[in-house]
Amino acid sequence: MSPIKKSGAAAALAAHLSYQAGPDELRGRVIAITGAGDGIGQAVALAAAAHGAELVLIGRSVSKLEAVHARIAALNKAEASIAPLDLERAVARDYDQLADALQRRYGRLDGLLHNAAILGVLSPIEQYDVPTWCRVLHVNLTAAFALTQVLLPLLRSAPDASIVFTSSGAGRHASAYWGAYTVSKFGVEALMGILAEELEHAGTPRVNALNPGPVRTRLRRQAFPAEDITRLAAPEDIVQPYLWLLGPASRGVNGQSLDCQAKR
Ligand code: NAP
Repeated sequence: MSPIKKSGAAAALAAHLSYQAGPDELRGRVIAITGAGDGIGQAVALAAAAHGAELVLIGRSVSKLEAVHARIAALNKAEASIAPLDLERAVARDYDQLADALQRRYGRLDGLLHNAAILGVLSPIEQYDVPTWCRVLHVNLTAAFALTQVLLPLLRSAPDASIVFTSSGAGRHASAYWGAYTVSKFGVEALMGILAEELEHAGTPRVNALNPGPVRTRLRRQAFPAEDITRLAAPEDIVQPYLWLLGPASRGVNGQSLDCQAKR
């Protein structure tokens, strides 16, 4: 595969900003999403299902996953399955069981969206609570590494698989008080870059990072409690770049750090 490089391909890489997925764009693709029960993960899961994907809904709150599953079933487009996994507590056996279950049910994986994350606290490094630091790094970064590792054989079994890491503005620019969250998102960007280079020769899976930008969710409210959230994009407003990266339209794109919302 020859990945689109940042230089000289700006137009190609801006394609995700104006993309509108066709009705059956993701038909036949099996796509796993972490944190699929709420916020952006939920919106992407519903949109991907509406465009024909078979979803694997991964998350820790089973009742939320069941609610998303019911909404997908009501679409009557494709089937979904629920995979309860608490990324804070999961151990090797849990990851192996998930991979085995997906192998038995689907035999491959066409897409993996690492979306689940926690904010932790906003605090100066000097006072940053160490257990919170470890929790944030574990959920946002180490769990994504472990899940990628265990699912790579399934991703390799698909002809055009795509791994999408969810980044953040905080993962590209370090600011005071953002502590473990920023460090985890810088780590996510690094993990994406390493993996993209390691897998480049094989052509599949391709690996990219996507920054949703400011979006009206629980995590955003936690970070900016006094903000007027009505001015922010809703999760369903920013799903198209995710569909672009997870689907055939972005074939050949590898190792890129992209944004869902155009810079103002
Ligand atoms: P959100 O509404 O808080 O959703 C986070 C999701 O992660 C929830 O489904 C949550 O599950 C799940 N999660 C948290 N801890 C988990 C764990 N231990 N195991 C499994 N799942 C867990 O936040 P969001 O804004 O949609 O965030 C989605 C992604 O976008 C994150 O990676 C975030 O860093 C990124 N992002 C968001 C913004 C923004 O403005 N919203 C900006 C930049 C980047 P429960 O519902 O069960 O808690």
